[in-house]
Amino acid sequence: LIELDRAHLIHPVASYRGHEKLGVRVLASAKGATVTDASGRQLIDGFAGLWCVNAGYGHESIVEAATRQMRELPYATGYFGLGSEPAIRLASELAERAPGNLDHVFFTLGGSDAVDSTIRFIRYYWIGRGEPQRDQFISVEQGYHGSSTVGAGLTALPAFHAGFGIPFDWQHKIPSHYAYRNPVGDDPQAIIDASLAALRQKVEEIGPERVAAFYAEPIQGSGGVLVPPKGWMKAMRQLCQELGILFVADEVITGFGRTGPLFACHEDEIVPDFMTVAKGLTSGYVPMGAVFMGDHIYQTIADSAGAGAVGHGYTYSAHPVSAAVGLEVLKLYENELLDNGRKAGARLMAGLESLKDHPLVGDVRGRGMLAAVELVVDKEKKTPLPAKAEPARRIFDRAWENGLVIRAFANGVLGYAPPLCCTEAEIDGIVERTRKVLDETLE
Ligand code: PMP
Repeated sequence: LIELDRAHLIHPVASYRGHEKLGVRVLASAKGATVTDASGRQLIDGFAGLWCVNAGYGHESIVEAATRQMRELPYATGYFGLGSEPAIRLASELAERAPGNLDHVFFTLGGSDAVDSTIRFIRYYWIGRGEPQRDQFISVEQGYHGSSTVGAGLTALPAFHAGFGIPFDWQHKIPSHYAYRNPVGDDPQAIIDASLAALRQKVEEIGPERVAAFYAEPIQGSGGVLVPPKGWMKAMRQLCQELGILFVADEVITGFGRTGPLFACHEDEIVPDFMTVAKGLTSGYVPMGAVFMGDHIYQTIADSAGAGAVGHGYTYSAHPVSAAVGLEVLKLYENELLDNGRKAGARLMAGLESLKDHPLVGDVRGRGMLAAVELVVDKEKKTPLPAKAEPARRIFDRAWENGLVIRAFANGVLGYAPPLCCTEAEIDGIVERTRKVLDETLE
């Protein structure tokens, strides 16, 4: 398998070097929060795949829902005004639970095309509103909004930009709220004020009548699990309202219990104009993402669509099998997983906090079952680990040898996003194994 992998399978490019040099690890099976590799080694999956298997592995009821749907109706397009029962029901169940008037749902295959779709919908909205000049988009440094060519421009990772002139000249950024390394210090109000001032200034620079939308993650995931101060999302949302620009909450990671509630926007007490989700929507069993939009937005776009002015959709939008899985997963969240995730999340945070005495640990942060430990060489000076893929890969390998899957970001941040079904023993195992990995890293 490893030889065939080297010869033929292209991995996501961020892990390409590691895979070329160090080989691939083949996963064979999984149950609950435990994954088993092809050699039979069992590991706690502290990252739920790629922050997506929120429900945990091996739920028979999900498998049954998918197979039932495959048997009955494996595919139906949403074009030509066609539909399928699971897609309609899932949209309606989600709309009922989404914040405020986010009553309209467009299904995609994942997060990147959900973000891409918002860019299109937002343009259609402004064109429909008679303000076609609003074509400038703003997002946050260290943010991640996907890997598609357009979405990657909102993403702040330079590796995703090479060769395409990305970000495009209509894509702008403001600095992150990253508290541990913020030039304004770590005072929550100072950080919020700095972000508000930065957004105001950026909008002023671009021209207030040109700006279409502002994008933010409730917690920046791929940037290193950067948790904004409480009230940050609300303050930014309110400023967007004041400035007359749309606010997009990208909940691809934070949605579906990752931070505690079904959506982080509930906890942040905001109703965005758009919300994007993926990952936990189907818990990784099958691909699916979604865009939620407010009623006021939908009506404007629908009017333009009625006039034949807009087009957008994918062959696999609202896929019946994915929707059937989404419905079943939603039941699991509400019956047990959200509750368990909240308890497990509190235990995870407390456990990781206890690592703060370790010489390599500079910062511990997170909310619910989404957390990070930032490693430093010098705690006083906050000197980061050498910014290379190699040390990160070594930490990933050490964790693996200790029966733990975590994400080791290239800048020495360890990322945690375990399945919400984790038992107390598994959470404790994640923390204990991390301590062992840190001790081994010191040696
Ligand atoms: N938005 C956010 C906040 C994400 O974290 C991700 C993926 N990590 C995406 C969008 C893109 O999702 P996908 O990889 O499913 O295309």
